[in-house]
This record gives sequence, structure tokens and C-alpha cells, in this order.
Amino acid sequence: MLKHKGIFMNNITDKTVKNCTSCQLCFAVCPTEAIRIELDKDGFYVPVVDDNMCISCGLCKESCYKYDEKIIMTYDEQSISIYAVQSIDKKILNSSTSGGVASHIAIECLKQGYKVIGVAYDNDRDIAINKIATNEKEIESFKGSKYMQSYTEKVFKVLLKDQTDQKYVVFGTSCQIYAIKKYAERTNQNGRLLLIDIFCHGCPSLNLWTKYVKYIKQKMNVDKFDGVEFRSKIHGWHEFSHYFISDNIKFKSKKINDPFFTFFFDNNVLCKACYDCKSRSTLEYTDIRLGDFWGAEYALNTEGVSAVVLSSDRGKGLFDNIKNKFILKSILSKK
Ligand SMILES: Cc1cc2nc3c(=O)[nH]c(=O)nc-3n(C[C@H](O)[C@H](O)[C@H](O)COP(=O)(O)OP(=O)(O)OC[C@H]3O[C@@H](n4cnc5c(N)ncnc54)[C@H](O)[C@@H]3O)c2cc1C
Repeated sequence: MLKHKGIFMNNITDKTVKNCTSCQLCFAVCPTEAIRIELDKDGFYVPVVDDNMCISCGLCKESCYKYDEKIIMTYDEQSISIYAVQSIDKKILNSSTSGGVASHIAIECLKQGYKVIGVAYDNDRDIAINKIATNEKEIESFKGSKYMQSYTEKVFKVLLKDQTDQKYVVFGTSCQIYAIKKYAERTNQNGRLLLIDIFCHGCPSLNLWTKYVKYIKQKMNVDKFDGVEFRSKIHGWHEFSHYFISDNIKFKSKKINDPFFTFFFDNNVLCKACYDCKSRSTLEYTDIRLGDFWGAEYALNTEGVSAVVLSSDRGKGLFDNIKNKFILKSILSKK
């Protein structure tokens, strides 16, 4: 524990703990704004605490699963339902990472009066950034996984400041969703938040992405992209191919010679917190989890299939409303 003015500091700089997940909710919950987020030299977002402003309330630690010694793991398969789904809307399917389920959930949530928090690509800064969408046009930019940590801080702060009855659906990695869930429980706001997380391989360093885009821009001889697709289906769903566009110049990579995916899948450049991630092994803090449905059955599928895991009644209720949007197969049904 760090000592400060005669008291023990109770904040996330306590070095007895573990590696930061970079979810950034600590910044948003801090009542004295003692925490700011910086990008560290290794390319990960980290909190920096101003000891003079910290009141040792411990709210930052309560939002971080790395400090949760009682984190609940999911062992009971009978409490979940699993589906394999592929959108029948070809426009959505072709522009999504797997089966397009995230977009259908977002559209349904908009209809039900939710605001949607998702992750867009910022073409000016070449980073992934969280945004709040209130209509279908705005959720377009959420389509497609951006394989890096998203910059959440401003949007999470807006969410926490909104003390009205406004409903929000939040899409994010499991560590981000854990943090929001803990906040919602503590403040009795579970009822207005629907939480959707993703199967997560882990997040690579932003330094890797920065170097990679510099290399691609040189190849294309451009300064800025107008569009980036991390997992374009241009060569098929299984190919892990980037697609970049700038004015009319287009560039597509292939997995076999794509340096970004080589490092990503070699697992040498992930955030330290990802190597022993517990949040991805539990479904207790999310309503729905989404991923790619890999495996023999869809090995020849070139268009993409999503895995949908329903872990709460709210998640199930929401999904029931959109089942007709997919070619769908039930894999496991809640008893
Ligand atoms: C960093 C990362 C690692 C992943 N690892 C795996 C994996 O190992 N195995 C697997 O099966 N699936 C993984 N996924 C999920 C997968 O890429 C698809 O998101 C999932 O199959 C759903 O596809 P979709 O077609 O429904 O969604 P899409 O249309 O692709 O939408 C993706 C959703 O994820 C959100 N999102 C995009 N980028 C980020 C980000 N950086 N951080 C948080 N949220 C984001 C968007 O807001 C959107 O709602 C990962 C995703 C990310 C972002």
C-alpha cells in the first residue's frame, strides 16, 4: 500500500496488484478526478493517480476485477443458452466480423429506447474509440472488431454521469463489461444497463498497430485512411485480411503475410493483464457474449457465423426478439 499524508492509500496504484486491464473505468468512477489515463511506453492505456487529490475511497479498485478476490466463475452450463447465427441481411453480414449479431442487437436496442455504446475506428488518430449512438446511422461505425484496446474514458464518464432513467446497451471486452457491471450493482442501476461482451483473444499493444499502419500508409503512399476493416471478408471469413481505403486507393492484406496478425496470434504483444484474464472465463457479469463460431461445422463457411451465449434472462428476452433475423442453430438450451 502507498502511504499518503499519514493514511494508507486505497487506490489502483497499490502495487500489490496485478496488471492493469486498461478498461479505464477507474478514471470515470473517481469522485475527485484524481485519475487520468495515459498511454504507457508499451502501448497500453494506464491510469495515473494524483496522490494529492486521491481521497482513498477505493471506488477505482472496486471496479477492477484484478482486485476482486471473490470473482464468480461460471461452472454451470445449464444456466446458459448458445446459438450459432448468421444474419440474413447480406449488407450487415458482409460488413461485420462474423455473423453480424452485434448489429442486430444494437438495432433492436435502439427500437427499445436504449442508447448504444460501441467502438468505432478514429481515422484521424488511428485508434479505437468508444462512442454513444442514438440512431442506426451512428451504429454503422461499430461494425467490425478493432483488435486493440479501445479508448473508453470519455464515454464511460458520460454514462456514469447520466443519472436519468435512460437505458444503455454497452458492447465491450469482458474486463470493460465487468467494470460497468460492478458500477451498476453498486449504484442500483442494473435495470437500465444491458451488457454485451465478446469472446476475447486479448488486446495487442497500440505500438504494434501504430507501426503497422505507418507501414501500410507508406505502401499506399497516403497520409490517412478513410476506412479500415480489421477482418474484411474480401478473401472470405477465415482469411483474417485487413482492408484499407484512402480516396480511391485500396489495399488488402492476407493473413499469411500480414505482420499485425502474425504478432497478434503469436501472443507476444498482448496487454500483460490478458495473459491471466479471468473475466473472459466467467459469464456472471454479462447478459450476452458474442464471438466467432469456429469449428468443423463452419470450416467451409466463407460469410461468417457468430456464437451467441445468453447468460441472463434479459439477454435471452432481447435475443428472442431478433431470432428471425438469422439463419440460426441452437447449440445448447438453458434448462
Ligand atoms: C480485441 C478483440 C478480441 C477478440 N477475440 C476474439 C476471439 O479470440 N474469439 C472470438 O470468437 N471472437 C473474438 N472477438 C470477437 C469477434 O471479433 C466479433 O466481434 C464477434 O464474432 C461478433 O461479431 P459480429 O459480426 O456480431 O460483430 P461486429 O459487427 O464485428 O461488431 C463487433 C462489436 O464489438 C465492438 N467492438 C469492436 N471493437 C472493439 C474493441 N476494440 N473493444 C471492445 N469492443 C469492440 C463493437 O462496438 C461492436 O458492437 C474479439 C473482438 C475484439 C474486439
